[in-house]
Amino acid sequence: MMRLPKFEYRSPRTIAEAVKIIADAGPHGQFVAGGTDLYPNMKRRQQMPKTVITVMRLSELNRIEGEGKVGLTIGASVLLSDICDQPIIKRDYPVIASAARTISTPILRNMGTIGGNLLLDTRCNYYDQNYEWRKAINFCLKKDGDVCWVAPGSSKCWAVQSSDLVPVMVAIGAKFRLVSTLGERMVDAAGFYNDDGIDYLKKRPDELLVDIHLPPTNGWRASYQKLRRRGAFDFPVLGVAAYVRYEVVSNKALPNGRATYTQMRDRYISEAKIILGGIAPSPIEVTDAANVLIGKPLNDDQIQAAAEAAYIKARPLDNTDFVYQWRKQMARQYTIRALEALRTD
Ligand SMILES: Cc1cc2nc3c(=O)[nH]c(=O)nc-3n(C[C@H](O)[C@H](O)[C@H](O)COP(=O)(O)OP(=O)(O)OC[C@H]3O[C@@H](n4cnc5c(N)ncnc54)[C@H](O)[C@@H]3O)c2cc1C
Ligand code: SF4
Repeated sequence: MMRLPKFEYRSPRTIAEAVKIIADAGPHGQFVAGGTDLYPNMKRRQQMPKTVITVMRLSELNRIEGEGKVGLTIGASVLLSDICDQPIIKRDYPVIASAARTISTPILRNMGTIGGNLLLDTRCNYYDQNYEWRKAINFCLKKDGDVCWVAPGSSKCWAVQSSDLVPVMVAIGAKFRLVSTLGERMVDAAGFYNDDGIDYLKKRPDELLVDIHLPPTNGWRASYQKLRRRGAFDFPVLGVAAYVRYEVVSNKALPNGRATYTQMRDRYISEAKIILGGIAPSPIEVTDAANVLIGKPLNDDQIQAAAEAAYIKARPLDNTDFVYQWRKQMARQYTIRALEALRTD
């Protein structure tokens, strides 16, 4: 049985108290929410904080405020099971409720939080092993070693960003509020994740994620498709989030000057994003896919062209479940599925 290492457990009641404790603890401090990621990592000796500070008693982190018309704010400690079932999230942001429903198991969703999910450690077959296993291969770059077993010539770690909600948050343009003893800042989900399996967040360890700000739902739709081995529960080894904003146009030339309203029924796409998760240290935006969609209706030809762009951009490595060449093929297929779900005809 794997045991937790010894640590001091702190349970602050206010944000000010929480950020003071972590600032005082320095590099030995770490926040914990549901602990469904951190505690297994500690048991495997991948993370060894001496001071663990729970965020679950900070009331501000447990709130959900707003609605689709004005935007929604979700506290970082809201449980995944509440994200799945909360009526306003289900009504106005169904993509978030459905993506959350694919995360782990009901029991883990009753413990795990949305904040913990967005800050999940990156994953790799050579890293998510117990201490003895990792010691037997002389560890790796991400922890205690000096070689990457996935790309031995590489000075970079390629461990994979494996959260189901991250690609969705990037696609819909969410923002995160971070607080520390130095003050407060808002950061865009897009750009918050580094393409580096070790230094994977643009967040300092002393910063507390307080809440997640979702934009108003004026005219956009989004969907998420997840590839995993077991339907019951498994981390994503590919996740595709698709986002489109439709605009109804009058009988005049469209912005790209190539077609008219009468040729395109009544709706064209004015904004689009395809985000790939589960195949690299950070979520990947496929701008070529968006470019083939903008200014057009969402028909079979456009969906195929966008899926081809996603296939070209996807470069999974051999460090998660399934053969990586097949995961690359699936980027095409799952992009088709994600876009099909957004058709209005
Ligand atoms: C068997 C199993 C299956 C899983 N399957 C999936 C899956 O399919 N998809 C998926 O996305 N995830 C999966 N997970 C991972 C995990 O359960 C979820 O991502 C969960 O949402 C993590 O939330 P948590 O509250 O437990 O995070 P914790 O473990 O408490 O924290 C995770 C990280 O976030 C930090 N943190 C937490 N809250 C804050 C905060 N407010 N401010 C600053 N830092 C904070 C912690 O320091 C830690 O680094 C799985 C886990 C297990 C054990
Ligand atoms: S990608 Fe390489 S360095 Fe990173 S966890 Fe895997 S084996 Fe280790």
